[in-house]
Amino acid sequence: MPYHEFKCSVCIPERKKHAVVKGPGETLADALPLGYMNTIPGTISERGCAYCGAKHVIGTPMKDVIHLSHGPVGCTYDTWQTKRYISDNDNFQLKYTYATDMKEKHVIFGAEKMLKKNILEAFKAFPKIKRMSIYQTCASALIGDDIEAIARDVMAELPDVDIFVCNSPGFRGPSQSGGHHTINIAWMKDKVGQVEPKITSPHVINYVGEYNIQGDQEVMVDYFKRMGIQVLSTFTGNGSYDELRSMHRAHLNVLECARSAEYICNELRVRYGIPRLDIDGFGFKPLSESLLKIGLFFGIEDRARAIIEEETARWKPELDWYKERLRGKRVCLWPGGSKLWHWAHVIHEEMGVEVVSVYTKFGHQGDMEKGISRCEEGALAIDDPNELEGIEAMETLKPDIIFTGKRPGEVAKKMRVPYLNAHAYHNGPYKGFEGWVRFARDIYNGIYSPIHQLATVDISQDEIPADRGFLTQRLISDEKLGPEITAAPGLRQYTGKYDNLAELRQRKYPVFDAPPAPAEAKPALEAVGA
Ligand code: SF4
Repeated sequence: MPYHEFKCSVCIPERKKHAVVKGPGETLADALPLGYMNTIPGTISERGCAYCGAKHVIGTPMKDVIHLSHGPVGCTYDTWQTKRYISDNDNFQLKYTYATDMKEKHVIFGAEKMLKKNILEAFKAFPKIKRMSIYQTCASALIGDDIEAIARDVMAELPDVDIFVCNSPGFRGPSQSGGHHTINIAWMKDKVGQVEPKITSPHVINYVGEYNIQGDQEVMVDYFKRMGIQVLSTFTGNGSYDELRSMHRAHLNVLECARSAEYICNELRVRYGIPRLDIDGFGFKPLSESLLKIGLFFGIEDRARAIIEEETARWKPELDWYKERLRGKRVCLWPGGSKLWHWAHVIHEEMGVEVVSVYTKFGHQGDMEKGISRCEEGALAIDDPNELEGIEAMETLKPDIIFTGKRPGEVAKKMRVPYLNAHAYHNGPYKGFEGWVRFARDIYNGIYSPIHQLATVDISQDEIPADRGFLTQRLISDEKLGPEITAAPGLRQYTGKYDNLAELRQRKYPVFDAPPAPAEAKPALEAVGA
């Protein structure tokens, strides 16, 4: 019987088809949990809403933009600063948040006048910023404020500004995934094709579905530049508004997170004939294969190979140091969406951990299918779990660590289970060769930190052992390892810097190829209507 019934959810029988155990000999067709369905009344979902998916996940990582929510301030608060999508312009988009702060009187009398006043005030307060995105919320959608008309009005008054409107209220879809889709299509429809970029290389890509969590985008773009590739735009981490208006001129869309951004890639293929290549920046093997695929597409695979060899030689001994100490550790892989299949097999193969459970909050059945297929037998797969199911799973599975977001993470901490932030990371970036070692280092620190051992002591009742002194690495992670591992000359702990982005931002890149001849080159950079 593949479906798994949680004791805590017996009173919600519809939940039964949302969890399965991957049993011996069972096929995926027998065992796929339901996914991307409306949340069942009676269960408390941990999902975000469609407004959150549009604004928080995809819109706000754009760096040179005022991101304004048209709705109650509470909608905005939950989408501010909780995810560390940094940028190389001093994190402008992370520092400030903007909301029209709708109240009851606006619901009755309308909020369009207030919206216009807010837009003008925001541009006045930040005169160097000339781009804005406005996000509809449930309240402004229900009263029918015409945000597009207000935006057109302002653009006519201020010809040097450009405004993007995203109509993705919270109720538009079962989860944040509905908002991903809406903003992808809206950007494509309203903004792509408005700016003609300067082409500087014969190899031009859009990097899509990458949000620069703690620098992931900058690490990956560094590899692309070392290969002589021009990154026209990034959708959307560390991405610039006007660069994203020129996406139509790329030769290839390199897609990282298919769950959140495959829609725009598919539209770019249909409208402009730009092919899509799915890649994976997590893990030595998937990343190496990805760089090679891009190299093969452009006929520059030798450049990809050179990077792979250099980076592997530098970082593999450090990854293996952690693998020896993480081998057999039990992990609940509970991120939001696609990381369950990006990570499931590769953390097992490259870090030695056992994935005992996967879950997704906003993933679709296709994400579950890929995730389950990459798990070992016996893994428990859950779609959109509620808090009690998460607790029951942790009590049953007894993981050594869970990878999840901050809400379930807090529950895990209360249960004395270490948790690693799979959304915003602890000490990322986690992409790239060095990033993957940083991830292993953070897992190691999470599992072996003495603080978690002390956390199991009830200080109101138990004696705190005073005879052990400080627990050293030798006592914690290396206790059962032989000298062939602890003294292995080829292995070492992470030796990178705390801030591994500062140098990247200063780096100069070789010029491999001349830019295309003027006849082939696209018109010079000129913002249309900006
Ligand atoms: S569901 Fe609606 S009201 Fe709630 S945060 Fe989302 S947009 Fe705001």
